Amino acid sequence: MQGLICEGTTEDSVRLSNDIELVGELAPRQVRVEIHAAGVCGSDMSCIHGKYYMPTPLVPGHEAAGKVVAVGSAVTYTQVGDHVVLSTFGNCGHCADCEAGEPGNCAVGMGGLAQPYAEGDQPLYNFANLGAFVQETIVSENQCIPIPKEMPLTSAALIGCGVMTGTGAVFNRARVGLGDSVVVIGAGGVGLNVIQAAKLVGAKQIIAIDRIAEKEQLATAFGATDFLLAADDDFDAIGSVKALSGGGVHHAFEVVGHTGLLADAIQMTRAGGNICAVGVPDLTASVTYNFQSLHQNKNLMGIRAGGARPRKDFRTLADLYMKGMLKLDEMISNTAGLDGLIPAFDAMRAGTEARTVLLPHA
Ligand SMILES: [Zn+2]
Ligand SMILES: [Zn+2]
Repeated sequence: MQGLICEGTTEDSVRLSNDIELVGELAPRQVRVEIHAAGVCGSDMSCIHGKYYMPTPLVPGHEAAGKVVAVGSAVTYTQVGDHVVLSTFGNCGHCADCEAGEPGNCAVGMGGLAQPYAEGDQPLYNFANLGAFVQETIVSENQCIPIPKEMPLTSAALIGCGVMTGTGAVFNRARVGLGDSVVVIGAGGVGLNVIQAAKLVGAKQIIAIDRIAEKEQLATAFGATDFLLAADDDFDAIGSVKALSGGGVHHAFEVVGHTGLLADAIQMTRAGGNICAVGVPDLTASVTYNFQSLHQNKNLMGIRAGGARPRKDFRTLADLYMKGMLKLDEMISNTAGLDGLIPAFDAMRAGTEARTVLLPHA
């Protein structure tokens, strides 16, 4: 079957293969899934650039939806024919953290490495427990969350990472409340979801900041009440946010993954506010901030994958979409075959498009 293989730490080291095979029998609680849609996320670029220190060769891609084609003997949560959104959480399901409703904190199954496929006799790792830029893969039962069959798989795929990461930061971690004020630094795929979630919970002011002027239209359509264009280095983001919000916002979301912007976000919040580190820089990066800027009872939060409880949250998000309350279709600027990955990265760098979704069976 067809899939993308990354063999190094540059985009030149990614190639399309026609000779990938799944290996091994399905374990009792494993599921084989045909991937029909896989979104291109900034984390795929970071992974390929070596910023997550993943071993290679590996199959990238981690934001996907598809159809269940086979289930292991003990699987009860999903069945053949189901349409599913895939989660990157390879959590065990029965440790203390899993039982406490925090699957993202599970030490057993998170960050694990698996090689569900091979090219010839060379085993291939999967990125983020998924490796979705391929026509089929094998995952754990608890990574498969069934969704209504009427839901387009291209839109559903986005729930797996970008939508969950953005909305979950608002719903699960910051817990933005009615009448709160919010700033979102970076109005890309994830930032738009922070914006629409903040609007859903009734934030009174949602300030979006981006360096691309074209983002204003999308940001406003998703619910931003103000847009600040960070056109050059002289732009005073902190001063502008303080002026607009009357001294600082309740919640600042840094979605770019830039350590300097995270330090700025601390200064944009009012006393007692939340600073949400949603974007992910190189995992070894250090953040320097002025001590006084955090001192006034502020909360600096590390947020991985929106604090997701996939079985609960993915279904809620799919339900909100089906009821017309959550925008997903509007986020997809382009679809392409698996060979569309690098052009999608180029579009991401240009900052003019929200999301490309790859269709492995197109
Ligand atoms: Zn992602
Ligand atoms: Zn666990």
